[in-house]
Amino acid sequence: MDKVMLRCLVSRCLLTNPVAGQTRKMSGGRLAGSQSSLAGKVAIVTASTDGIGLAAAQALGQRGAHVVVSSRRQSNVDKAVALLQSEKIQVTGTTCNVGNSEDRARLVDMTVEKCGGVDIFVSNAAVNPFFGNIMDSTEAVWDKILDVNVKSAFLMTQLVVPHMEKRGGGSVVFVSSVAGYQPMQALGPYSVSKTALLGLTRALAPELAQSHIRVNCVAPGVIKTPFSQALWQDEDVVDEFKKQLSIKRFGKPEEIGGVIAFLCSKDASYITGETITVTGGMSCRL
Ligand code: NAP
Repeated sequence: MDKVMLRCLVSRCLLTNPVAGQTRKMSGGRLAGSQSSLAGKVAIVTASTDGIGLAAAQALGQRGAHVVVSSRRQSNVDKAVALLQSEKIQVTGTTCNVGNSEDRARLVDMTVEKCGGVDIFVSNAAVNPFFGNIMDSTEAVWDKILDVNVKSAFLMTQLVVPHMEKRGGGSVVFVSSVAGYQPMQALGPYSVSKTALLGLTRALAPELAQSHIRVNCVAPGVIKTPFSQALWQDEDVVDEFKKQLSIKRFGKPEEIGGVIAFLCSKDASYITGETITVTGGMSCRL
């Protein structure tokens, strides 16, 4: 296409779309009235005092949602709440170990009591207590990994769905991993738990669509957080990983947070049962 044609096409596009290139901003730089706005929404993000969970809370909060952050340690909750408040994000914090049923129920009850309901649930918590050959993993390892990484994701969803139904719908996002597609060496049980989340997304989506609740998933590649320290601190491992990446660096938490916020927004209103891989180009196939 020559330059004149290209210019015509662009100017026609601007003529037929008078708001192209414009964004209406709320105070604090937030988008108002746009498809990506989450103003008035209440979002629970588990394991949200660091890394990807904290970045998801920031991304949702920047779009106007009231975010409920939590993790096991009160000191981490206090730090995250202070950070989000300093960024003018509406936030409530509490402790919650997602592996504990009383904690899960308390998190949801507190959210409804203090914020009036739930519209968005991001299931982000995971543990990995085992490195080694999968054949050496014990029943206790499997119990812990499946309890926290898979069962709690489902059981939390079961708790929030009735509240989303009261609001006329909602959005659930699970945080899986590239390891769910291609099991990482020495991380067998963890990888299997992340594959299960791909299945959970697909199993829940058709059933919850009847209640106008969308269920999606993100599968991050290697993101620089405390959780993945072992991978990005060792230069040999870094070099090996980079060979598999099209974008030759590890990801940043905010690069996952933005995708999670997109999945929770009206921009994604016709997306359900999907997993978005965010991996810098690592190949992902089951
Ligand atoms: P992270 O930076 O290490 O943060 C972990 C967060 O989880 C902290 O806020 C921690 O706070 C909390 N936490 C840990 N166990 C918990 C539990 N049982 N209940 C509630 N909160 C808990 O981790 P991350 O890298 O962001 O990982 C977040 C998610 O992304 C996980 O599902 C992980 O599998 C997935 N992921 C990460 C990567 C990566 O490369 N980083 C790649 C793919 C997928 P407390 O210590 O106070 O509980």
